[in-house]
Formats: sequence, C-alpha cells, structure tokens
Amino acid sequence: MYQPQFNVQKQQLLTAEALIRWNHPQKGLVLPLDLIPAAEATGLIILLGEWVINEVCKQHQAWRAAGLPPIRIAINVSMYQLRQLNFASNLQQILLVHDVAAQYIEIEIAETILLAHHGVLPMINELKRVGVRVVIDDFGSAHSSMNYLKELHIDGLKIDPSFVKNIAKIEHDEWVIKAIIAIAKSLNFNVFAEGVETQNQLNFLQNHQCDGLQGYHFSRPIPAESVTTVFKHAYTINEEWSRH
Ligand code: C2E
Ligand code: CA
Ligand code: CA
Repeated sequence: MYQPQFNVQKQQLLTAEALIRWNHPQKGLVLPLDLIPAAEATGLIILLGEWVINEVCKQHQAWRAAGLPPIRIAINVSMYQLRQLNFASNLQQILLVHDVAAQYIEIEIAETILLAHHGVLPMINELKRVGVRVVIDDFGSAHSSMNYLKELHIDGLKIDPSFVKNIAKIEHDEWVIKAIIAIAKSLNFNVFAEGVETQNQLNFLQNHQCDGLQGYHFSRPIPAESVTTVFKHAYTINEEWSRH
C-alpha cells in the first residue's frame, strides 16, 4: 500500500510511503507490526526488504509509463537491511534495472535504529553516494542529541506521531514540535509530520511551516491504482493554485 504525503502550502503530492501488507489466504490481512518482527526473527527480512524495493521501483516505472509526473516513494528499512554491507550497492542495482533515478527514492530510518546502532552511520553516507534521500522516521521519540544530528548526512526528519496526536491538547508537545521544526530548518533538513488526523493538527503544522503532511486526515494507505487518482487530483489542484 502507499500513503500519500502532501505539501499543503502548494497542495502538491510530495511522496508516497510504501507500507507493506500481507494478504494471507487464511489469516486475512497481516499488518507490518506482526509481519516485520517475524521476518526479522527468521532472517527473511533481507529478502522481504529487497522485494519491497523491487516492487516500489516497478511501481515507479509503471506510473511514469502511464504518463504521470514523477513522484518520490519512501521505503521503510529494517536495521538488519542497513547492516548488510552491500545494502546500498544492491539498492543501486535495483534502481538501474528499473531505470529509476535515485532522487525519487527516500529511505526512512527510525531514530531508534540510528541511536542504538551507530554502525549504520557509514551506510547513510553510502546511501547518499548512491543519491537516494534519507529521512529519520519517528523523530523525537529517542532523544537524539544536537551534536549527533549535525553530523548526519540526511535530508529530513519525520516528527514522531505521538507529538502530533497531542496538538491542541498538550502544550508541551506543541513546543516540542516547534523545536523540532526549528532544528530541522536550521540544519537545512526538510521536516514532515505523520499521523495527522484532525483539522486542528493540520492548521498547527501548516502555521509552523512543516514541509510535508501525512495521515488519515488526507488519506489512509491505499493501493497503487488509487494513488493514480490522488496524483491527478493533487496535480489538478496544484495547477489551479499556480494560476492564482
Ligand atoms: P511507520 O513507518 O511509522 O508508518 C506509519 C504507520 O502509521 C503506518 O502503519 C500507517 O498506516 C499508520 N498511519 C498513517 N497515518 C495514520 C494516522 O493518521 N493515524 C494513525 N493512527 N496511524 C496512521 P503500518 O502500515 O501498520 O506500519 C507500521 C510500521 O511498520 C511502520 O511504521 C514501519 O515502521 C513498519 N513498516 C511498514 N512497511 C514496512 C516495510 O516495507 N519494511 C519495513 N522494514 N518496515 C515496514
Ligand atoms: Ca515510515
Ligand atoms: Ca513513523
């Protein structure tokens, strides 16, 4: 499935985040919270992760072939994938096979992975060499230090949804969001928010210049075919917007 992320100021579709689901013949839909830990425990995560990257690149190619404007696709990766020394070069190979420019792929790495496994830092540099974008996911949940952040060659931060949930409820969490946005801007990172479910949350994030917004308020994760519709709609709005 893909969940769209919008640039609200410009009403533009920015990114679609790939979120895995397993349609199990007996169990029905298996969600990542069950699937990913099992795949990690069995070691299957490497193959599964590669399958995800392949599917995303195929989809990118298909959208392009259908004449749609290029979109960025975000991919979540597990610590086990990042620990593989050839992860970046395998990714590069898959991009080549599907003729996808690296700039259209965004790799999301959870903040907890970065802090617990300093060994993945050289991999971030490798990924940057390949040319993909790198974003820290669930930022704010694991207390990165400022010093640490400025050493990272990343493109963006995704604010942890636990803060977004408390907008218009807990002032302290609003301050944290404002601080994260300020840090991101000063380090020249993009800043995104996810788990946006209400108009209040949207207004707050818009007022504080969050670059990209994602959540049920806009769209749930949807199949690739439905993204095509969002694509057309988002770009139609954008064209109207740019005429004003
Ligand atoms: P995540 O990367 O933080 O993804 C966001 C999760 O929040 C997704 O859950 C999404 O469906 C859900 N979500 C989006 N908008 C809202 C909202 O407005 N409200 C609420 N309550 N939830 C929202 P999902 O799809 O169940 O994925 C859970 C986690 O599983 C992801 O968290 C990610 O860490 C992991 N995951 C998903 N796909 C993959 C994958 O292909 N590979 C790996 N390694 N991990 C994956
Ligand atoms: Ca993510
Ligand atoms: Ca997240």
